[in-house]
Amino acid sequence: MGWSTIAAAAVLSVVAWTPQRQAASHAATSGSLLSNGWIDATATLDPGTTPVYEGNAPLKFEFLKDMRKGDALTLSTYSLGAHSGTHIDAPMHFVRDGASIDRVSLERLIGPARVIDIPDGVQAITAAELNRHGWRGAPRVIFRTRSALRGWMHSPTFHHDFAYIAPDAAQLLADAGVQLVGIDYLSAEQFGAPAPMTHRILLGKGIPIVEGLALEGVRAGDYDLIVLPMKVGGHEGAPARAVLRERAKS
Ligand SMILES: [Zn+2]
Repeated sequence: MGWSTIAAAAVLSVVAWTPQRQAASHAATSGSLLSNGWIDATATLDPGTTPVYEGNAPLKFEFLKDMRKGDALTLSTYSLGAHSGTHIDAPMHFVRDGASIDRVSLERLIGPARVIDIPDGVQAITAAELNRHGWRGAPRVIFRTRSALRGWMHSPTFHHDFAYIAPDAAQLLADAGVQLVGIDYLSAEQFGAPAPMTHRILLGKGIPIVEGLALEGVRAGDYDLIVLPMKVGGHEGAPARAVLRERAKS
């Protein structure tokens, strides 16, 4: 084996090794319990690991200056869709005169939330499925589904068969006065749904939808939730940071 072959093999092993290392470090930063009890439920935005919903804008991250390459400072730019990674849909997404993301009340985004475990075999969270779980009385409802079990928020491949909230379940949640709904993949709506009924029902009642939560380190139960989107004026959604802390059982 000549030097060039060894060098090529070394490069290949680095290329092959890097994504695994990134995935592992993301899994460690999202989902781990902090000493103060908070859990980061946010997927890291990274072009190497962030899935992009089919047809949405890709993530473009670029260093304009980089101290690791001898520049005097590090300075970067990024462009990405408003619905990238862990993010919030504001009513404006599917309601003509609905509130933009900067106008969604913080009271909806901060407060008690219940995390509900949906089994891996369930793709459609229908009203019947919802009613198999104790969700009534919860001011905010978050679904932990097959998407978290499979680590899909940390895999750049877009999966079509993610679990979604069926319109009849959305209607139950909306009628019950739930303040916020969350789910662990890029949309709450069935992929390829004939009409965006789940979005219309929830957003039509002013209920923000948190999508793309990283819930692999979160079990079912009652939590305090803080989920804060970037305050982008006049737009229909924005990436957000989401944290959860288990509530003491009463
Ligand atoms: Zn969205």
